[in-house]
Amino acid sequence: MKQLPALIDGKPVETTAEVPVEDPSTGEVMAVTADCGPGEIDLAVTAAQTAAASWRRTAVADRARLLRRMSALIERDLDSLGRLEAQQTGKPLRQGLRDAEITVRYFDFYASAVETFYGNSFPLNDTTSVQTMWEPHGVTAHIIPWNYPMQILGRSVAPSLAMGNCVVLKPAEEAPLTALKLAELALEAGFPPGAFNVVPGYGESAGAALTAHPGIGHISFTGSVEVGKIISHAAADLLVPVIMELGGKSPNLVFADADLDRAVPVIVNSILQNGGQTCSAGSRLLVHESIHDDLVARIAEHFRGVRVGPALGDPDLGPLISGPQRDRVVSFVSESGRGGDLLTGGEPLTGGGYGNGYFYAPTLIDNVTPDQRIFHEEVFGPVLAVTTFATHDEAVELANGTDYGLVTGVWTTNVSTAQRMIRDIKAGQVFVNTYGASGGVELPFGGFKQSGYGREKGAEGLRGFAQVKTAIIAS
Ligand code: ADP
Repeated sequence: MKQLPALIDGKPVETTAEVPVEDPSTGEVMAVTADCGPGEIDLAVTAAQTAAASWRRTAVADRARLLRRMSALIERDLDSLGRLEAQQTGKPLRQGLRDAEITVRYFDFYASAVETFYGNSFPLNDTTSVQTMWEPHGVTAHIIPWNYPMQILGRSVAPSLAMGNCVVLKPAEEAPLTALKLAELALEAGFPPGAFNVVPGYGESAGAALTAHPGIGHISFTGSVEVGKIISHAAADLLVPVIMELGGKSPNLVFADADLDRAVPVIVNSILQNGGQTCSAGSRLLVHESIHDDLVARIAEHFRGVRVGPALGDPDLGPLISGPQRDRVVSFVSESGRGGDLLTGGEPLTGGGYGNGYFYAPTLIDNVTPDQRIFHEEVFGPVLAVTTFATHDEAVELANGTDYGLVTGVWTTNVSTAQRMIRDIKAGQVFVNTYGASGGVELPFGGFKQSGYGREKGAEGLRGFAQVKTAIIAS
């Protein structure tokens, strides 16, 4: 198989070592990429530094024009990019296409957002005026996970380039293919060589070399808490700012007065989308005791009717990303002392049409209590844990009862209940009578507690990729 090279300074760069990329629907190797080491990382950072020296001086209107061109090219290639995203991650085809559409929107959105992203000016006193202005960091390092490769690229690369930074991006070893395509599109759009470099490779080698390189000025990381801590240490050694978008154990809270017809399909989607491999997955269901039986029965019915299959057949639920990820889900659900009552699923799907893909059945576990691992640890699989509450206080306590604080869904028709939950819940996003797993280009996103710090998405997302300079001018 011909190696897909890194893209550094606008040129393909091959390496002797390679990374095989599996199709999780079949377990077969679908591509091999370069495996970058410190040498390639150094080349990429140096190229980005050189490009950044002139890119930061490029007029905002010209930067925005290139972002819009990039957006148009992604739209032109939407079908092939969406297909490739679906195939390499195992997500249903329509979700891969949706992810490509959202990536189109990120480049468009940040083209517009940066054009009205002004500093301030104010008189300090009679003879002194002050100007604040936003300046880029220089080279931004992006460490990307495998669950939403294009979306997460879009939400960090688009604002970074818009602000005048240049980018070195290490995609996840499991799903690096669309990032390589997007870097080619950036060249076609007319971005200077070196503005957007992609260095595939493993986390412990390529990722570690990138986050330790003294030429970078900023890190944006999306992934696990464990690796987030390693990267926070690397950022501390370099003294560069870092955005940490980590995990979650996000709940949907369903109150007695909720509209269940509306809630059920959204709750189901919030955990089954992307096989539950979404940092903002709705992996806990907290339900008022008076409606517990009805709600759980409806969700179980949905789970039993889910079509599971290969990504490109556009099922409701595709495979998990890899063998190790499926093993992790298996061990979580089957561990002795797991607690709760298994209502649906609870096992991998093998044989027959499933072949050697990494399929796992939609799994509903009822009567979960806060002392159980399944209540507070992230599974990253299609596994929903149900817990009941009796009072509003108890609902808040359960919602806030994990180390995470990424997203919460509140289902109620009572505006006071909704307001109270918005006030009391410790999470970066609170949805009322809706729930957005992924997407949400306009919505500032990021975690409280162990879910991370810093915000991406929305106009707020530009700030993370810039620093304020204050000029004080005395007459
Ligand atoms: P996930 O649980 O989604 O696989 P990880 O945190 O393991 O999340 O990986 C997210 C990204 O971090 C991937 O691109 C991976 O290669 C990278 N990574 C893993 N270990 C390191 C490390 N020590 N230094 C830098 N990047 C790493």
